[in-house]
Amino acid sequence: MPIDATLPYDDDNVFARILRGELPSTKVHEDEFALAFHDINPQAPVHILVIPKGRYVSWDDFAAKASDTEIAGFIRAVGHVARGAGLVEPGYRLLANVGGHGHQEVPHLHVHIFGGRQFHEMIPPPRG
Ligand code: 5GP
Repeated sequence: MPIDATLPYDDDNVFARILRGELPSTKVHEDEFALAFHDINPQAPVHILVIPKGRYVSWDDFAAKASDTEIAGFIRAVGHVARGAGLVEPGYRLLANVGGHGHQEVPHLHVHIFGGRQFHEMIPPPRG
């Protein structure tokens, strides 16, 4: 179920628990600002999630409240991870779902990095 991205941060969300080491993840990268790990249900040959270390519900929350240092650190981490995965030359796709219409399921900001195959339509048609 998509989340309401206007709600306050929930410290029990699954990515908060991964950040605290309470749940396992297959870590790709970690620095002061971000943690990157493989998605548990990959939608492409490469499907990595990058999350900020701070308590931000969504891209909107992060853009509004994070410091310039956190924003720069996070954006650089996304680039670093994609580059490190060898995705710059073939190309890749970034996605950040926000709230209900965006079908965001985990209420901690995450950027999806998809790669390893050709992507076509940017937004698939609605199901049903
Ligand atoms: P959203 O729809 O919120 O943008 O994407 C959430 C993503 O988190 C999904 O792609 C889902 O597979 C992934 N995910 C959910 N729970 C876990 C987990 O416990 N571990 C990992 N590695 N990924 C998860």
